[in-house]
Amino acid sequence: MDFGFTEEQEMLRDSVVKLMAKHAPPEALRKWDRERAYPEDLYQAWAEAGLLRLPFPERVGGLGGSALDVALVVYELSRVSTDVTMAFGGSIFCGLNILRKGTDEQRAHWLPKLLGGEIKFAIGISEPDAGSDVGALRTTAVRDGDRYVVNGQKLWTTGAGLKNSVICAYVKTDTKAHYRKGMTHILIDANTPGVELRKLNMLGRRSVGTYEIFLKDVSVPADRVIGGEGGGWDCLMGGLQYERAVSSAGNCGGSQAVFDLAKSYAAERVQFGQPIGSFQAIGHMLADMETELEAGKMLTWRANWLVSQRKDALKEITHAKLFTSEMYARHANMGVQIMGGYGLNEDFDMQRYLRDSRSTTIAAGTSQTQRNLLANLMGLKSSK
Ligand SMILES: Cc1cc2nc3c(=O)[nH]c(=O)nc-3n(C[C@H](O)[C@H](O)[C@H](O)COP(=O)(O)OP(=O)(O)OC[C@H]3O[C@@H](n4cnc5c(N)ncnc54)[C@H](O)[C@@H]3O)c2cc1C
Repeated sequence: MDFGFTEEQEMLRDSVVKLMAKHAPPEALRKWDRERAYPEDLYQAWAEAGLLRLPFPERVGGLGGSALDVALVVYELSRVSTDVTMAFGGSIFCGLNILRKGTDEQRAHWLPKLLGGEIKFAIGISEPDAGSDVGALRTTAVRDGDRYVVNGQKLWTTGAGLKNSVICAYVKTDTKAHYRKGMTHILIDANTPGVELRKLNMLGRRSVGTYEIFLKDVSVPADRVIGGEGGGWDCLMGGLQYERAVSSAGNCGGSQAVFDLAKSYAAERVQFGQPIGSFQAIGHMLADMETELEAGKMLTWRANWLVSQRKDALKEITHAKLFTSEMYARHANMGVQIMGGYGLNEDFDMQRYLRDSRSTTIAAGTSQTQRNLLANLMGLKSSK
């Protein structure tokens, strides 16, 4: 059993660390968070460095990187900010669906634009009445000649308002069929007439933004359907598994940042004439954080390695998503406790990690959904 990364992977990781140090310094991150603004220049720097090409095969202009390579990149990006990294994740998850399920024409049309950083993708699954119960979504697309007319509403769509965003919407094309058959995946430019976006006031991820989308008689060409009419469920499930595997690496990156901040603060902050890290209560918190972080990374690297080997990894991905999302939120909370009042002050970064971490046990499937899935895999049929 080999637990190491290859020399190429270490070089890739190093290049991402350097890129982020240059394009996303701490004062810029604080500004983007405060002003709720997304750094387009940073996104373009990722595109120029080839990061968006990494997960795609060479035949479509990609670099042929494995899921583990992508996970390493996401880990390093997220160590700096799990918020700004979301636009990277959303774009590649949707792009990989086009690779898997699209036609040759669709791949030729969409992938060069995505890989070059010209467009971004946002994932539009959730709706006001369809959260964990994805099958309850009500947005419809009705065929009208060579177009579809889309009506409905999406909620919590990450990054939908970023420059040149395309919404990868899941809609019902057959409202009478079972949701696994009546669901369709369709791409809608965010600036199409009839699309209205509203950026929501959320606790965290303020830079990439979380959006509400209203769709009123939106006319979309029929060739925007990916995976065929009624093929939406397959796209959704394939995309979600990859998203959960790779976003576990983001949770580990966020958790690592929190641990590093808390550890150095504990070594420097003096109370009662000694560094607070020398108090057993603080030292033990850090010891627990470090131990859990190692466990979270092992689950994450294993899940992504299995995906890289094209092995069935539903259980391992779910373990990684469940453990690392709860770990990141817990560690950010512990980090604030270790820093006392400074942990809650906006001049320090811990509160940003705390805010950004909180959504990880909800987005891409709640912790309860992950536990239901694991119980079901055990044959317990605990819930839907
Ligand atoms: C910051 C953020 C970003 C997001 N980004 C996106 C995005 O880009 N695209 C997108 O489509 N969606 C996105 N989401 C939506 C996310 O996927 C949903 O919030 C999530 O699936 C839960 O749905 P809900 O919020 O409606 O909660 P609900 O489903 O209403 O759940 C409420 C509570 O009930 C629990 N619950 C529900 N059903 C069960 C059950 N069967 N058994 C046990 N407990 C249950 C849940 O675990 C939760 O604790 C985002 C959410 C957040 C917070």
